[in-house]
Amino acid sequence: MYDGRTNYIGGQWCAASNGATFPSLNPADTEQMIGIFARSGAEDVRRAVEAAEQAYPQWSRVPKPARAALLLRMGRLLEQNKEGLARLMVLEMGKVLEEARGDVQEAIDMAYYMAGFGRMPDGYVVPSERPDIYCAARRVPVGVVGVITPWNFPIAIPSWKIFPALLAGNTVVFKPSEETPGLACRFVELLIEAGLPDGVLNLVTGYGSEAGMALVEAKGVRVISFTGSTAVGKQIASRCGEQMKRVSCELGGKNAILVLEDADLELGCKGAVWGAFATSGQRCTAASRILVQRSIKPRFLQAFLEHVARLRVGSGLDPNVEVGPVINRHQLERIHEYVQIGKAEGAEVVMGGTVLTEGAYAKGCYYAPTVLDRVTPKMRIAQEEIFGPVTAIMEVDDLADALTTANATAYGLSLSVYTGDVRKAFRAIEQLEAGLVYVNLPTSGAEIQLPFGGVKQTGNGSREAGWVAMDYCTEWKSVYINYSEAGELVRAQIDTPVLSDGDSLSGGGEGRRP
Ligand code: NAD
Repeated sequence: MYDGRTNYIGGQWCAASNGATFPSLNPADTEQMIGIFARSGAEDVRRAVEAAEQAYPQWSRVPKPARAALLLRMGRLLEQNKEGLARLMVLEMGKVLEEARGDVQEAIDMAYYMAGFGRMPDGYVVPSERPDIYCAARRVPVGVVGVITPWNFPIAIPSWKIFPALLAGNTVVFKPSEETPGLACRFVELLIEAGLPDGVLNLVTGYGSEAGMALVEAKGVRVISFTGSTAVGKQIASRCGEQMKRVSCELGGKNAILVLEDADLELGCKGAVWGAFATSGQRCTAASRILVQRSIKPRFLQAFLEHVARLRVGSGLDPNVEVGPVINRHQLERIHEYVQIGKAEGAEVVMGGTVLTEGAYAKGCYYAPTVLDRVTPKMRIAQEEIFGPVTAIMEVDDLADALTTANATAYGLSLSVYTGDVRKAFRAIEQLEAGLVYVNLPTSGAEIQLPFGGVKQTGNGSREAGWVAMDYCTEWKSVYINYSEAGELVRAQIDTPVLSDGDSLSGGGEGRRP
């Protein structure tokens, strides 16, 4: 069990400089402590950033294939430790074991995918308009990257950010969520076992308003990669803007599944159940709105409720359970409050709507899978991210109405449409305002070889994963080399304009062009 020495700075495990700590609790039984962790502040962050700055010159000069080899070894270690990590994940943040294994698998996939990029092109050569000039552009690392992550994908999300950053030659300071510091420690322990050089990745555990904000403010940090709520993302982005610091934000969502009258209803139901209740609705891609075409609404709702009624709620270690606890008591209250807001706005609770407190639920943070019917677009429960096992049923007239309603929120992460008509599918792909669009699939289920991220208030245009994964932590450097023997200055655009007139094309420019 972790005992407070959970900062990893310059190759040493250490406590917070003022000795402060905080506990991490099991959401399925809040009397069970996962460990005690360093509650870091500005001084710890300063030391971590300094260590990362010191390690940067050497790490950025390590050949890229050798940096990739670290990720390859990390991938193998994640595979070997998959079960242990998954079980710790169930204990520390509550998702069910099968999903926890999927979370670790995503990091394994990312490690191997990124390792492959160690020998892929990282730039290009283009012809020059001038004779004897060589022109090339290449990616270069940015420097020290600050990584701030949420708790809901506690192994996958750090891997999306940290692996590309390390591969590109950056050094990193990692501030994980205060809800999942144990998993962050295990992640770093495995990277150390994989051969991480001292100072290349530094870990500071602690709270967002303390360690997190200190990282955003730290002078030596050149880029912040943040995943979390839109409210915090806005604060971070504006502070980064003032410092001219690069920032990548992956934020909240208000995702929807559109079920049209020509859809495979059973498939739509299964997708909606998974979309809405996987990870107890605590996914950024969770389907918290189900938009159903009016003509099939009664049939759909009945089938959907039958599925939801069968969901078993409990500890994620129980293989029969599909819905685990929510992350903490504060979130439990917030979810229940949203259901009350929905009722007051005129929605009807047709399933769930209660905090579960009896028997095995007594010590945990459990909420009954909840379905709200008669939800209309302007209601707060149709607009705001709830982040719990709650979904809203909304009626729509037709495809056009479904698309308008789906787009009518501030967010734009994941939208899905169930239809048997290819024309409607393509219309939806075209018009849905989201970073991820699914057809006949639920809103969750991203694969790491495609870009991941959202539009509108879900992000600031950056993307993770896919071959654009390195965009956030690299700069482009353009290089011009003159290898002419004539020893004369040839000015771009001035001495040899290529398309300014017919003369220059036919040998103008005083014989400089062959
Ligand atoms: P959160 O915003 O509360 O915290 C995220 C991280 O930011 C944590 O490490 C926290 O300590 C830190 N933090 C909090 N306040 C801070 C501050 N003032 N300065 C610096 N750091 C600060 O979010 P959460 O509850 O951990 O995660 C849930 C949210 O994350 C949801 O909104 C969800 O949609 C979003 N999310 C988005 C994606 C995506 O890719 N778009 C993926 C997963 C989760």
